[in-house]
Amino acid sequence: MQICKVCGSDILEKTSSTGLRVFLCIVLMFLPYGLLYCWLPLIREHTYICTNCGTESKASEIETIDSREMESRNHDYGKMVEEAEGLIDKWIMTDSNELCKLIYLKGQLFVVGVDSESAITYRMLKYKAEENLIVVDSRVGTKHQIYRTLVSGKGYNITDYGKTVMPLEEQGLIESGDYEHIVSTLAGKYSLIEGMDIERIA
Ligand SMILES: [Zn+2]
Repeated sequence: MQICKVCGSDILEKTSSTGLRVFLCIVLMFLPYGLLYCWLPLIREHTYICTNCGTESKASEIETIDSREMESRNHDYGKMVEEAEGLIDKWIMTDSNELCKLIYLKGQLFVVGVDSESAITYRMLKYKAEENLIVVDSRVGTKHQIYRTLVSGKGYNITDYGKTVMPLEEQGLIESGDYEHIVSTLAGKYSLIEGMDIERIA
């Protein structure tokens, strides 16, 4: 079983086309000395995209595991979801003063980190309950972004995907970009979870 190195999903799509390579090879064949190098397109490594997290990988970068290992990984993930259950849909103010929310969507855990300038979607990788630490990865494919940074680099928009998980009033609140107001409103409404921290691995 071939899986994505970043998120462990086995839904990989080939992005390079064999047909195009054969076509290029035939075209090159008719060029001067073409027979010497027309085979080059055929030996280039194939590329894949993970439909789960959006990571692009070369064939050599894809991890191969057996079904037993896949099962054990799924089991570990399920265990993490169980352990983090009390935090799902909750707002957290970390020890490093970062505001974030844990979200469970389509069988996966995400963290949305909000400050005055950005709202970043992270994929949750580990929950170390004994250390009160959440380990996240910022490599989240466009399909799973809850907020998307605008092309200009300034500001962000909620995605259609995000609209399905963020309550309407929170959408408006975060969009306001007024960080102090966001924190005080959320703290007044839900009381923020404290004593936790976030570690980013990418
Ligand atoms: Zn992936």
